[in-house]
Amino acid sequence: MSERGVRIRGHHVICLQFFHGEGYSAEFAMNLFRVIDSLTQGAKGTVVIGPDDVCAACPALKDGHCAQEPDSEEAIRVLDALALEMLELDAGEEFEWGAATLSVQRVLERWRALACGGCEWEEACRPLIDLAAGYRTT
Ligand code: SF4
Repeated sequence: MSERGVRIRGHHVICLQFFHGEGYSAEFAMNLFRVIDSLTQGAKGTVVIGPDDVCAACPALKDGHCAQEPDSEEAIRVLDALALEMLELDAGEEFEWGAATLSVQRVLERWRALACGGCEWEEACRPLIDLAAGYRTT
């Protein structure tokens, strides 16, 4: 994160919309709050390919790539590419967080169908995704 804005990878543009405190560590979660605060206060996001300002505080980041699982970086780049295609964003493109939030609303059903299944954060995100998608929760 810099004064110029927030570096953010594709799937984080979508997934950060539903963050509400969970994370891999306290430091990771605090960084996420800072990232989201910065974006909602008007900092521009810039799309990056690979690790971003969220990954920077993640315990899974090793030697400049996601090492949560042996093939995580490759798998997550596929997810990033899917998010960018859905949101019609390109590498290096700057965007406003508010506009991204509206775009996420537009693609939410498709994202949920293609990307959320099997994610370790699916249960944590579900209540907010249900709200955003207009589902009735019981
Ligand atoms: S798990 Fe991987 S992709 Fe997710 S924040 Fe950590 S380093 Fe980044």
